Amino acid sequence: MTDEINKLLEKLKFSENESIRVMSTRDVNNVRGFESWAIGKTMATELPNRDVMYRVFKSLWFTKEEVDFVALREGAIIVKFGCLEDRSRILNLTPWLFDRCLFSMVPFENGKAIDTYEFWKAPFWLRVYNIPIELMDRQTALDIGNAIGELAAIDWKDWNGGVVELVDTDETETIGVFKYERLPDFCYECGKIGHTVKSCTINKESEVMSGLNPQFGSWLRAPIVSPNQDRSMRRNGVELVK
Ligand SMILES: [Zn+2]
Repeated sequence: MTDEINKLLEKLKFSENESIRVMSTRDVNNVRGFESWAIGKTMATELPNRDVMYRVFKSLWFTKEEVDFVALREGAIIVKFGCLEDRSRILNLTPWLFDRCLFSMVPFENGKAIDTYEFWKAPFWLRVYNIPIELMDRQTALDIGNAIGELAAIDWKDWNGGVVELVDTDETETIGVFKYERLPDFCYECGKIGHTVKSCTINKESEVMSGLNPQFGSWLRAPIVSPNQDRSMRRNGVELVK
């Protein structure tokens, strides 16, 4: 067999223009596979226009590589980032809102069932007011953050304005001194993100849920900062706790 091949090789001659070499254009830093993908879901009962959302996110993200969106039947959307760097940067800048709806995004995991992704869990920045100066330290930040939810990061730049923390949304119980930044539409009656009080399905017959004295309100929103103070533009001084 080897002899046969050698004989054939001896006869084999390429002319100049037959010599084609296939060069791999795959760049190791430019992952094109699922390793750099994310998966997201719009956490709202009334979904915004998907194509417009894709366009807006693309224009806001300024990714190095192109991003593609693929909507799945289950309501989830695969976000195909072109490299890990893009994905990390965009995931670090969550929450992402479109049309006052939360687009909850997590890293894509190959083979993981769509319904096992925890889209209901999203980080939000929280401002804490009225902390006595002597208590404005890391320990207080950790204590408050961990009491409210799962503390992910502390922003030390807003030191003068109080301690700012990133917590998860699953915790709805708060006291007056906390305010969330960039909150999407949420229900003042049941506190859930994704619908407003008008379309709340909770039984309004009960006294607590009568709508006259809602448990939640716009007071949970931190005042909007000027665009140049936007946290998404400046992330130096943020300590990741998790
Ligand atoms: Zn509700």
